[in-house]
Amino acid sequence: MEKTIDEARDVACLYLVVPCYNEEQVLPVTAPRFLNKIKEMEGKGLISGESRILFVDDGSSDSTWSIVTALNNQDHRFQGIRQSRNRGHQNAVLAGLMEARSKADIVISVDCDGQDDFDAMDAMVDKYYDGYDVVYGVRSSRESDTFFKRFTAESFYRILNALGAETIYNHADYRLTSKRVLNAFADFHEVNLYLRGLFPLVGFPSTTVEYERHERMAGSSHYPLAKMLSLAFNGITSLSIKPIRLITGLGAFVSLISFIGVIWVICKVASGDTVSGWASTACILCFVSGVQLLSLGVIGEYVGKIYMESKHRPRYIISDRTFGDE
Ligand code: UDP
Ligand code: MG
Repeated sequence: MEKTIDEARDVACLYLVVPCYNEEQVLPVTAPRFLNKIKEMEGKGLISGESRILFVDDGSSDSTWSIVTALNNQDHRFQGIRQSRNRGHQNAVLAGLMEARSKADIVISVDCDGQDDFDAMDAMVDKYYDGYDVVYGVRSSRESDTFFKRFTAESFYRILNALGAETIYNHADYRLTSKRVLNAFADFHEVNLYLRGLFPLVGFPSTTVEYERHERMAGSSHYPLAKMLSLAFNGITSLSIKPIRLITGLGAFVSLISFIGVIWVICKVASGDTVSGWASTACILCFVSGVQLLSLGVIGEYVGKIYMESKHRPRYIISDRTFGDE
């Protein structure tokens, strides 16, 4: 007799880790969809009945936490933890992953605004049963983005690759991870978090699943250009020290040009000519000062990161939890 899916394999317990920051507008819209998705996957025998949706309130100043507690009262499959203050998306996801790893077999981190297509979860879980420990959700296209967003995102991936950092093209933080990956990841203690760049370093079999990125279902983005740039800088400095080497190369290049210039001036003077032109001297001085300041800035970025890392401050602090499970 043929075995049903449940008999053929242990059904995994799935936790969805959903970071939320000031999301009172979108949570009431997306929460029921998350629950339906969990129920649907449980119905298909993909995940067990212990599966949960874990909201991580990242220190919201609006009514997000009251909504999370109300959801928990409504259905025990909604769970929540609350950060003592806002610490940013990456830290919120980390808090959720670390909280979920003791209870779940697999965790999917997913934004709470409905932009990550829920239907990709089935394929992600299927890949887990195929033997993959990490399944990266990758955007199938960037057609819905503005030209500027597409250009900056693509340039960023190119720069990272040129710097030798392994990154998954078009992957944000929509990702499935298995318990053993999360247990290994718990030994990564860095404060300068760039999760999408760290998971490839953990290792274990990994694959990708394509999905459509939708419009936000309500509310507005918390990632203005300045925050995006800061995340991009974090990504580069967390994954590569090549920029410092590039500075050495740049220094060598500028020194070589100066050396050739000096030889040229000596030859001119020796042949009885005078070298005129204060404007060109001023330009060269400005150029060299610019290069030096830029180089100092890059080195300073790394020194600042070392300073922050050396403090070993906690990366998240949980102030509240929903109770009412089981
Ligand atoms: N988020 C968070 N802490 C923050 C900023 C954002 O937990 O400080 C959450 C936010 O609620 C959302 C996810 O991170 O679930 C992605 O943020 P958002 O949708 O604003 O970014 P975008 O999709 O526009 O890049
Ligand atoms: Mg979003």
